[in-house]
Amino acid sequence: MSIIYTDDLAFDRAHIWHPYTSMTNPLPSFKVKSANGVHLTLEGGQQVIDGMSSWWAVIHGYNHPRLNQSVSNQLAQMAHVMFGGLTHEPAIELCKKLVTLTPEGLEKVFLADSGSVAVEVALKMAIQYWHSLGQPQKNKLLTVKNGYHGDTFAAMSVCDPVNGMHQLFANSINQHYFADAPQTRFGEEWQADDIAPLKALFEQHHQEIAAFIIEPVVQGAGGMRIYHPQYLAECRKLCDEYNVLMIVDEIATGFGRTAKLFASEWADITPDIMCLGKALTGGYMTLAATLTTKHIAETISNGEAGCFMHGPTFMGNPLACAVANESLAMLMENQWQAQVSRIEKTLTSLISPLAEHRRVADVRVLGAIGVIETKQAVKMENIQALFVEQGVWIRPFGKLIYLMPPFVSSDEHLQKLVSAIALALDNEHCFQ
Ligand code: PMP
Repeated sequence: MSIIYTDDLAFDRAHIWHPYTSMTNPLPSFKVKSANGVHLTLEGGQQVIDGMSSWWAVIHGYNHPRLNQSVSNQLAQMAHVMFGGLTHEPAIELCKKLVTLTPEGLEKVFLADSGSVAVEVALKMAIQYWHSLGQPQKNKLLTVKNGYHGDTFAAMSVCDPVNGMHQLFANSINQHYFADAPQTRFGEEWQADDIAPLKALFEQHHQEIAAFIIEPVVQGAGGMRIYHPQYLAECRKLCDEYNVLMIVDEIATGFGRTAKLFASEWADITPDIMCLGKALTGGYMTLAATLTTKHIAETISNGEAGCFMHGPTFMGNPLACAVANESLAMLMENQWQAQVSRIEKTLTSLISPLAEHRRVADVRVLGAIGVIETKQAVKMENIQALFVEQGVWIRPFGKLIYLMPPFVSSDEHLQKLVSAIALALDNEHCFQ
């Protein structure tokens, strides 16, 4: 390679894809040297308070001695072994924990390597289930608009058709059914007709629908929308009534983020299939899980294939399982309810006054999630620079400036995060 780069950032810019970023005109990336607690230390020594938990994942903070130790201990035993024909303590312990913690009835665990793969696995399980029952025509999916379930092809096919740029991939992704997104907000009075558009699609198409998939209570990357749990309860009823499997994508909401261990608990439902990821390892490593019921697992296994048709190379990676075990142990010991309800209270008191700001369209808070929806879209480069200058790390998108801080964030950290947002709202260079 003959090109000489003056610095690493120039190489990064020229050769490395970043998430949803142009390769010809990329926004700047900040180089991180280390991370500790809620702080990221950038090259040059500047510290920023993390308001993103590295996309919902780092709930206990960075460089945590207990999580570090769990990885080191496991490393001394084995970093990885194939899962075909072999098993190990970290995976067994983790699956025991997941079966215990998740809603009653979910007892068969598939360990996947990322959230998107966990969704692929869930969708394949549903389709294989109906195939095993001699109903291969039940192979379509039903979901709601404004959803987000990952970037792989099947996951993308159930993301919001507009946000997910379905027209770009129209010839490559399967076409599924989309109902209007839930409209009744969390905390508002339930509007019974909110479920009507979805019910109509169940009625019309249930004979060809394998599964209904939804993010419970919080629609994340598709709009940071927080909806009424009764909507989710109605979804469960419709799935039962029309013989459609219910997949709940708890990848972002799982492990306490919404002030319940799983957001499904807001509606007191057990899905047929549940996807977990992100905070599962405390944000240390990529690992996800898809859980299902005994009935679905047995039906699939008794079908034509005789097994579930999936098995990734790094399935059940021992390092990832070990750190997930420690993260779950800490979650329970740390009294996450107290942590999250304090964050919710503080975020509510700090963010509510911003609703009056002329640039703000709406504010909403649930658990350790705070959202400020603006009237104009942000100018990413400028707002990001302002945030870093203010000593915070917040990554907005479109008209959404949002926080999902680590559970160990103090009130002072939250104050600094929200003050930086307030400052940005007053700065015309930060908006389109
Ligand atoms: N589902 C939801 C609800 C998500 O928020 C995400 C990630 N943002 C995914 C699935 C995909 O997970 P991953 O990025 O680990 O593939």
